[in-house]
Amino acid sequence: MTPIAELAAHAKAGELALQRCTACGAVQYPPRELCLSCLADALEWRVSDHEPGKVLATTTLHHSHDPQFRSRLPLRVGLVRLDAGPTTVCFLAEDCGTGTRVVVSAETDDADRAVLTAAPVQAGAR
Ligand SMILES: [Zn+2]
Repeated sequence: MTPIAELAAHAKAGELALQRCTACGAVQYPPRELCLSCLADALEWRVSDHEPGKVLATTTLHHSHDPQFRSRLPLRVGLVRLDAGPTTVCFLAEDCGTGTRVVVSAETDDADRAVLTAAPVQAGAR
């Protein structure tokens, strides 16, 4: 199974899977065959139901060439730096702005591809 297919399988089960290099400890997303930091192939999966992070930037999409997204426009998208290290592209909940602390979770789209969504950390949560 390719790393992207394995990511999608985890996402279908509601799990967010990041890769961790057992040689240097780097965490990466999206998954690849080799570590981005040291090129080792000693990668393990770090699986959770969500990962904490912070919104770095946001934008709003008003057009898409992908038919599955047209009925959902406008779509809010953002860059989220996960506390674990990687920066990800996520669909954003309404109340996520630059600097918002969020939790990122994974699901699959209509084509069974993994997509990430970010929602604000609830008051009282971590
Ligand atoms: Zn490494």
